[in-house]
Amino acid sequence: MPKKSAQIKVTVRQSKTAVPHAVKKTKVVRKKTAVRKKTQKNISSKTTTEHVITHTSSKKQVVSAIFISLILIGCLAISIRDTQKLSANSTNQVKTSTDIGALDEEYSELRKRATEIITKAKSAEITVVDEQAIYTLLDSIKIDLATESTVQAHKSIDRASSKLDEYDGEVSNIIATRNTAEKKSSNAPQTGIYTPILMFHSISANFEKQLQSLVAKGYTTLTMQELYDGIKEPSKLPKKPVAITFDDGYVDQLTAFNLLKKYNMKATFYIITSGEASNWCVGMNRRRNQAKPCGNDFMTESDIKMLDRSGIIEIGAHTVDHIGLASLDAKKQAFEIGESKKVLEKLLGHQVTSFAYPYGSFNQSAITQVINAGFLNATTTVAGTNHTSNDFFTLSRVRDPFKLN
Ligand SMILES: [Zn+2]
Repeated sequence: MPKKSAQIKVTVRQSKTAVPHAVKKTKVVRKKTAVRKKTQKNISSKTTTEHVITHTSSKKQVVSAIFISLILIGCLAISIRDTQKLSANSTNQVKTSTDIGALDEEYSELRKRATEIITKAKSAEITVVDEQAIYTLLDSIKIDLATESTVQAHKSIDRASSKLDEYDGEVSNIIATRNTAEKKSSNAPQTGIYTPILMFHSISANFEKQLQSLVAKGYTTLTMQELYDGIKEPSKLPKKPVAITFDDGYVDQLTAFNLLKKYNMKATFYIITSGEASNWCVGMNRRRNQAKPCGNDFMTESDIKMLDRSGIIEIGAHTVDHIGLASLDAKKQAFEIGESKKVLEKLLGHQVTSFAYPYGSFNQSAITQVINAGFLNATTTVAGTNHTSNDFFTLSRVRDPFKLN
């Protein structure tokens, strides 16, 4: 570039001595070129050359004018190229900073969404969402943003986003299934025998009071197997039968067992057995030696054997991985249902005949798989206190013992 500028100067000086008019024109061309340079518009070499030729008389002048024009055009082309390069560079810089800004915004959106999903799951008593896993994913985005690793941040955002989609889908699915089932049951008239089944998950501080209220009202507790027999043959039923059931097999349910023993009350515990699909994070065989602890604490095989031998507790199955069954295909449903039965029967050395649908999520195919596996009865989370022999695989339950008559 500096070399070319020098050439221009020399040529212009030569023209000046020969024909002033031509020089004037050349100057105009240069001026125009400069202006055009500024506006970054391309210039047609043909037009410039023709323009100069028209106003020069000698060959020498024509040659020098062409020469100047060519140099100017070359110079202009370089200048345009440089300008474009510069503007491309600045665009890149702008892009990078918007990237960080945009990624930061996406991160905030994801955080908001995560909170919404966690709240939605908690308020619906859905335990499928692994809060810790979500926050770990979100934290990795934060680190990527802090170190301005935009490529990595993109990846982390994608990962967190698809995990949230997955959880959101599962939670919505469970809620939808419940709503449909509950609507159906509230529309149906309460026919059948009054055989309330109480459903518990974690133990509340007033659990003992709840048991006392049942005693005070004259209820007799039955296991699910006994309730099933009683519905089939009502003459076998006590005056006020009630079945107490516990889902999931959390370790704090051992406290409940001690209270049940104190009042000589029977109950059924639905146990998750643990498996690959849940990363061995839930249930009886949850891997307790994992580097990173996951899931809640569950009763162990020996706890469950102890309950089974107590004479007041029936062990029922609650799938391998505690996944909403309505979200699975028939083959996976069959595995979740059948395998949990097999594992428990092997542990206890006798048949396991009662089942509970995780999250109360079921469909016709899940019912079929429960029957095919050899279970005799299955409980849902649909609200209701009365049952007939037609309800054996969709038995309704209630949550509050104080509300029983
Ligand atoms: Zn459950």
